[in-house]
Parts: sequence; C-alpha cells; structure tokens
Amino acid sequence: MDILDLTLTGLSSALSEKKLSSVEITKAYLSAIEKDNGHPEPIHAYIAVFADHALEAAKKADQRIQSGNFTPLTGIPIGIKDNMNLKGFSTTCGSKILEGYTATYNAAVLDKLILQEGMVPLGKMNMDEFAMGSSTETSHYGITRNPYDRKRIPGGSSGGSAAAVAGKLSPAALGSDTGGSIRQPASLCGVVGLKPTYGLVSRYGLVAFASSLDQIGPITRTVEDSALLLSAISGHDRLDSTSLSIPPKKYALKEGLKDVRLGVPKEYFISGMDQEVKDNINATLKKCEEAGAKIVEVSLPHSSYAVPTYYIVATAEASSNLERFDGVKYGFRAPSQNLSDLYFKSRSEGFGSEVKRRIMLGTYVLSAGYYDAYYLKALKVRTLIKMDFDKAFEKVDFIIGPTSPTPAFKIGEKTDDPIAMYLSDIYTISINLAGLPGISVPTGFTKSGLPIGTQIIGKLLDEEGIFNVACSIEKLPRNISAVN
Ligand code: GLN
Repeated sequence: MDILDLTLTGLSSALSEKKLSSVEITKAYLSAIEKDNGHPEPIHAYIAVFADHALEAAKKADQRIQSGNFTPLTGIPIGIKDNMNLKGFSTTCGSKILEGYTATYNAAVLDKLILQEGMVPLGKMNMDEFAMGSSTETSHYGITRNPYDRKRIPGGSSGGSAAAVAGKLSPAALGSDTGGSIRQPASLCGVVGLKPTYGLVSRYGLVAFASSLDQIGPITRTVEDSALLLSAISGHDRLDSTSLSIPPKKYALKEGLKDVRLGVPKEYFISGMDQEVKDNINATLKKCEEAGAKIVEVSLPHSSYAVPTYYIVATAEASSNLERFDGVKYGFRAPSQNLSDLYFKSRSEGFGSEVKRRIMLGTYVLSAGYYDAYYLKALKVRTLIKMDFDKAFEKVDFIIGPTSPTPAFKIGEKTDDPIAMYLSDIYTISINLAGLPGISVPTGFTKSGLPIGTQIIGKLLDEEGIFNVACSIEKLPRNISAVN
C-alpha cells in the first residue's frame, strides 16, 4: 500500500488498526515534499514546512493511539493555508509585509484539529497575497504549479492547499474562501473543496480579507474526507462574533439522487465558458438524471452583477482590514526617517500590486463622496443576489453548475489582465455574497488531461445535503469529456 495514495479515512483505519504509524505517514509526506523541491519545476505548495515539529507531533499522536485516547483524525498530517495562525510559527499570507511575523495564538480551527484531534501540521501552504487572486501567482514567496500540468496555475487563492492535496504532498489541507478560493483551485486541481455556510466555521485566527465573506473549509481527495474534516472544525465559537449558535455535528454521508431536484441556472451558460467545461457539466447532469435526479431550469437574474458587487464589498472590507499592517505592529518594517515615512515606505514596499489595487479601490468606494453610489448600492445588490437564491430554492433542493468557466490556465496568461482574472470566480462569488454553502467535486478531465469540477450549492446549513449529492456524483464515471 502506498501511503501517499490513502485518503483520510484510509489513513484513519490504517492508524487505528496499527498497520501504519503517524511517524511513518508523516515521514512519507516529508520526503514527498523534499522530492518535489528537487524537481526542475516544483509544485511548490508550501511556504513553510515544519519537518521537525511534524515528526514530534507524530510521535505524540502515536502515543495517543497506543493509549487508546484518539479520534479518527489523530496522527494524520494536514496542510494549513498560510493565513491561519498557528502559535509559534510564521503566518505570511503570501505577503512580504508579514515577513518575520510569528503567530502568538492558534486559530480556532487549529486548536480543534491539532490540539484536540491530534492532527499533524505539515506546514503552511502557498496562497495569493492576502487571498486576493485566482491563480496563486501573487504570492511574494513564488508561484505554485498545477500537478496535472506544471506549466499551468493551480487556481487560487488556496492554490498551495489544492495543489498539495492533488500532488500527494498532503492528504488534506485547509483553505479559505472569500469568493471562490477553495472551490476554484479544488476544481482546477481535481480535488474536493467545500466552502461552508457563513458562520459555520470559526474565523478566529484567520487573517481577515473581507470579513463578511471569508470562510475556512477543507480541501480533500474525497467527499467523505471533506465531511470528516468539517465535523471536526464546525460549531459555535464565542471568540468569533459572526459564529452561528449551533452545536458541532457529525456529518454522515447518504448516497443517492432519487427524486433530488437539481436546479441549473440558465445564466450560468455564459459566452466565456470553455466548450469542454460545458460538455462536462451537461454530461454530468445527464448522468444525475439517469440516477434518478430531476433536473430543473432555474433563474438567478442578478448573476451578472455578482462580480462587480463582490469587487466593491470585498475591496471595501479589505481596505479597512489591511489598515493594521503599518510597519509597526507586524512583520516587515522599511528603514525610514519618521513615522509617516515609516507607514508610507513599509506599506509601499510590503504590499504587492494586486493588494494595493484593492486597497485603493476599497478606499475609493468607501469615501464620503462615493459611498452611496458604490458601497451602499453594492449592499443592496447583494440582497437581491441572496433573494435570487431564496426564490430558486423554493423550486429545487440544490443548484448545480460548473465551478470555474475554464480549466487551469497557463502561468502568466492572466496576470496583466485583472478583469479576466476576476472572471475566474464568476460561478463561485455569488455564493459568498449570499452566505450559502458550496462544494466543488471533480467530474472529469479535458482531452488534454486537465481536471474539471462541478459545483453543488445548498440552502443555508445544508452541508449534509450537498455532501450527499457530491458523494453520489463522485461515484459516477469520471473522464466524461475525455471519453466523449
Ligand atoms: N479570486 C477572488 C479574489 O481575488 C476570490 C478570492 C478568495 O476567495 N479569497 O478576490
């Protein structure tokens, strides 16, 4: 048995049956990461690898398993997007401005996974700077490559997390999703990515990008693994004021599509959609229908406003959240003459150009003269977008469509065209604006072998429902477009 091929559930049984130890598993991953580093075109999924610490944690996990005091996740390695704080280790958010910063506390999700469950932190994963991007090309620490084609991007902003899971450099990873950053890279890397309902997973210790949109979620190889991780990280947290007051839940999977009403938004079949992606979604829908699902056309009439609305709301929130990085409190500080010079130089040198673009845009839409015309208007449209979903969910149980309009694109292809890059999230962004849960599940490959994902969107807090549909779709024959 190749350790690197095992899913979380596979690793969990091997550990509890004492067929493998956590140290063996951790060593296997550490050597896979080292091997990748030696590749002429490395995937480069990690910003930091915690080799010594991971082995120590693995030894402790083995002791826990020996003593009988363990959970299904004890001893399993995990990768962490580098915008979540792990006490004693760096948090960079892919930015120069956080260079040298060491976290002083644990994110709530890491308290749960590492302290309580006994998972082994392998390291921190690469990401677009401050999670702003769809390709992981804006990281100060270099690009990440797609394991399916190293000349292409893995998607973003959680590109390191998705590439690691797809490239067998981690059995699972945490990502964060503000407008698609878990689902889009999961789709482009052929893995499963879940954006939970807003407020289901604590954001405490996640560096904020756009607080009303951000959610942490799992990136895994299977839907079952996604459910296992969500069971461990969800639930109320009094340290996050937007955390929902609901008790933790164990998500159990129930396969089957009989009489499930799947809504297909007619607005999703846009002109920029890749033909192979379109064929793939149509073939997936056909297979769902053969399995007993009812395919219903629905309308989300405000879909075309989702991207502009998002880029007003998200940049406004980001401009305020990123104010704290001033060269005084965290990480990087530029040599300077006086205080205003210090702020100016530290922020000028510390932030990359995409982050600066967003801070400027956000400051503009919040400024006294433009607040009503842009920010307030965007909030109103956000409500209309949410109401579109409410209306569609009167007719259907789930909404289904592509996750991304195209498969993974070439490195550098969209770096000079921010609008083209922003359109990568056209199918994922409205779900964050509405606070809904969404999952991307792999449904096939292009003829040239690039993964394609399908997105299933559920009603608020219907994670269990989307897991059920996703695990049923997962069992359908893949390679749909490659076979045709
Ligand atoms: N790609 C989108 C953006 O650039 C979404 C990012 C995210 O979900 N963190 O803002």
